Amino acid sequence: MCSKVYFLDIQTFSGNFKLFENILLKEIKIDEKFNKNDIIGVKIHFGEKGNRAYIKPVYANWFCDFLKRKGYKPFLTDTNTLYKGMRSNSVDHLDNAFFNGFSYFPVIIADGLRGESYVKVEKELDILKEFYIGADIFYSDGLLFLTHFKGHELTGFGGSIKNMGMGCAAKRGKLVMHSNLTPSVDRDKCKGCFKCLKWCNVNSIKNVGGLAEIDKNICVGCGLCLEICDYKAINIDWQIESSIMQKKMAEYAKISVEKKPSVFVNFVMDISPVCDCYPYNKNPIAKDVGILFSDDPVALDRASFNLVCERTGYDPFKKTHPSVDSLIQLEHAEKIGLGTNEYELVQIT
Ligand code: SF4
Ligand code: SF4
Repeated sequence: MCSKVYFLDIQTFSGNFKLFENILLKEIKIDEKFNKNDIIGVKIHFGEKGNRAYIKPVYANWFCDFLKRKGYKPFLTDTNTLYKGMRSNSVDHLDNAFFNGFSYFPVIIADGLRGESYVKVEKELDILKEFYIGADIFYSDGLLFLTHFKGHELTGFGGSIKNMGMGCAAKRGKLVMHSNLTPSVDRDKCKGCFKCLKWCNVNSIKNVGGLAEIDKNICVGCGLCLEICDYKAINIDWQIESSIMQKKMAEYAKISVEKKPSVFVNFVMDISPVCDCYPYNKNPIAKDVGILFSDDPVALDRASFNLVCERTGYDPFKKTHPSVDSLIQLEHAEKIGLGTNEYELVQIT
């Protein structure tokens, strides 16, 4: 069984939002998924303060306005992060969202002031059997995922599956997904600059004899220090740890939309090497592709990945993160029934 993915190519897309409306109404048939007055969570990443690659607010505004015009009640939403930054509690998170331009429609941080507001879902999947989903996402009537498709330091690329899995989990759920991730410092490479100390949210990195050392009993596996170290002195066992994390993330993604009507949109543009959680940007690793829509997040991510590789001429995610097999998330997502890797690409002009 193959799923349809609707594609607006950046090379021909003139910015005509009427095409978005046609896809949502005529192809995705959003009216058959959502009921009038449904409260719809529009799940998005607001971007860390200082980041510039996140989805532009004008798109979020258009989607919320469209939903409102059709008789639904949209709210923009995300959950708090594990690591220190401007999105680890709801007050800072809202401040950050407004600063980055998301101020026109209601914004609700779905897992409460400090991540304590969640719903526990019990369901036995391949690896996990308990899930902790941000309460306001769980209690919404439907979800529209607006996802920035880009590189990711832990999963190779981050697309809809990541926005759903990691993005809908409350802090407790994020901890579960990261729990196998235990970085360590290569003392031969460490220069003792201690940049990593300042970024670790839980103070698990110490100065031991002038070099960094991670206390594995305190570390929560958020992965932030892996990217922060300029000398590549912090590492994990990628073969095992990324693989398990991707599988757990796919399982969380499945639970986040269980019995809930959902629509997925990938913005395959500004393809940065790492996620939008960093307060800066490095140069894009691939050419812009366009905007893709589907009601199957697996087909959508697979199509986005394939188009990026085709347009770039190689796999830029593998080139940027050579130790990560980013396709594990897609394979596991299909295995547990979230969607299919088989798709038909429908070009919209
Ligand atoms: S950032 Fe890297 S080089 Fe600097 S102290 Fe930490 S591990 Fe060592
Ligand atoms: S040591 Fe690294 S992975 Fe562990 S909590 Fe600190 S920043 Fe996160």
